Amino acid sequence: MADKFDVIVIGAGPGGYVAAIRAAQLGLKTACVEKWVNKEGKTVHGGTCLNVGCIPSKALLESSHKFIEARDHFAEVGIEVGDVKADVAKMLEFKNSVIAKNVGGISMLFKANGVTALEGTGKVMAGKKVEVTDHDGNKQSYEAENIVIASGSVPVEIPPTPMTEGLIVSSTGALEFEEVPKRLGVIGAGVIGLELGSVWSRLGSDVTVLEAMDSFLPIVDEAIAKETQKILSKQGMKIKLGARVTGSDIKDSEVVVKYIDQDGEQEQTFDKLIVCVGRRPYTQNLLDESAGVGLDERGFIKVDDVCLTSAPGIYAIGDVVRGPMLAHKASEEGVMVADIIAGHKAEMNYDAIPSVIYTSPEVAWVGKSEQQLKAEGVEYNVGVFPFSANGRALANNAAEGMAKVIADAETDRILGVHILSQHAGELIAQGVIAMEFGSSAEDLALTCFAHPTTSEAIHEAALAVGGHAIHMANRKKRK
Ligand code: FAD
Ligand code: NAD
Repeated sequence: MADKFDVIVIGAGPGGYVAAIRAAQLGLKTACVEKWVNKEGKTVHGGTCLNVGCIPSKALLESSHKFIEARDHFAEVGIEVGDVKADVAKMLEFKNSVIAKNVGGISMLFKANGVTALEGTGKVMAGKKVEVTDHDGNKQSYEAENIVIASGSVPVEIPPTPMTEGLIVSSTGALEFEEVPKRLGVIGAGVIGLELGSVWSRLGSDVTVLEAMDSFLPIVDEAIAKETQKILSKQGMKIKLGARVTGSDIKDSEVVVKYIDQDGEQEQTFDKLIVCVGRRPYTQNLLDESAGVGLDERGFIKVDDVCLTSAPGIYAIGDVVRGPMLAHKASEEGVMVADIIAGHKAEMNYDAIPSVIYTSPEVAWVGKSEQQLKAEGVEYNVGVFPFSANGRALANNAAEGMAKVIADAETDRILGVHILSQHAGELIAQGVIAMEFGSSAEDLALTCFAHPTTSEAIHEAALAVGGHAIHMANRKKRK
């Protein structure tokens, strides 16, 4: 007879591994199937996020940022360090060690919580059975009361630039360049393009980003997107908007990219090209038709508000379902689904999921942007505070950017918080908490913030919603 579990999770990325740990903590007999094998042939947990996504990219972003700080900015605050050099091999070694620690941590947590780790590819069959094909091709069937699919996503490929080993690569290849490409092309000025473009630009690449759309970061609040574009361009990244890539050739180990922009047909030669034009849900060999799990027209697994698929007892979470492709969104869905399976009431607030772009400075936001609210016809008040007027940011020698709080004109309830600054990814948690608790701008304005901190910029932005910022010339008279 097949082994039986209360829950079988397919995929051990931040969606799946969190769902499995939570389910086991709630007393459910839980297994998690993972097929990812590392270069040493070992099955590894953590999915895209830990192996080729969030964590390795942040290790390289931090190392390259420190390099720029040491080379270009230490002297500004009185630290002479002489000739600063970047050792790419060492940076990759450090990045790989960070991956190993994180990945090892998940396996340890599985053991500690009693999650059964199954190695191989899981397929959802009729009758809530999961067929697992191990790395040698052997099949074994397991039964489950509930199944959680967390199979994630993979990079989108486009016909004009087919992946070419070592030359035309996705984000995964761009985390592995053994030396700094002299000329680096990046297709797509999205999150990955700007983050990995920043890494290699800081280390010395001449980076050109080709973006099909005419606008830069349209998902970001417009004023912040404009300022970000200005800053990244000043840092040396060449951002070409309205550039539609039509083809590519490999000549003498170089990549010639053809594109069309407002001036007509163009050609540019690069030593490496990163294609980062989005990711698509991954469902290959995952669903037997008899399982009754439906997909939407874009290939995502169709789910309701609590991530239940069209098949009873089968849930899907993370990148493989609708919503932002973010690790923390996947994890929160994992917790919600495990709670529901264990019989608890659970739901998710999709309006309070933060986003962060880890450039320097970082771009972070939660809730709606001004352009979104205008399009929806919502009346709002806005408070903006520049970090150039924040004492701690000046002391940190990192005073670029601004904090913005947007509140409903009638109720004063916070509708969005947008930050461009050093460590904006940390600061945004304050906006998330405020929104999660249904705070008004005045609630934030009446809160005591520690001094000197860059968080005070959020306080001032909240005060500015009512026209009462202290460290800024006020536009409104206090009522
Ligand atoms: P994944 O992490 O993709 O995990 C899915 C897992 O399922 C994989 O391990 C896969 O091997 C396994 N699997 C698939 N099919 C099967 C099967 N049939 N059987 C067994 N196993 C299977 N997000 C952020 O929030 N912050 C960031 O800073 C960030 N940076 C990123 C940087 C890069 C370069 C990339 C590419 C992504 C980044 N992301 C970031 C996005 C983030 O990685 C994803 O949103 C997140 O990993 C999604 O989690 P998931 O669990 O849904 O899927
Ligand atoms: P993205 O959707 O962020 O950006 C893709 C960009 O490519 C868009 O600006 C799009 O207009 C452009 N594009 C699409 N087709 C094009 C073409 N043919 N030519 C030129 N430009 C084209 O996607 P991404 O940067 O690949 O990232 C994928 C996902 O991974 C994102 O959804 C993101 O949520 C996630 N991610 C998150 C983080 C983070 O949270 N810091 C970091 C990296 C990745």
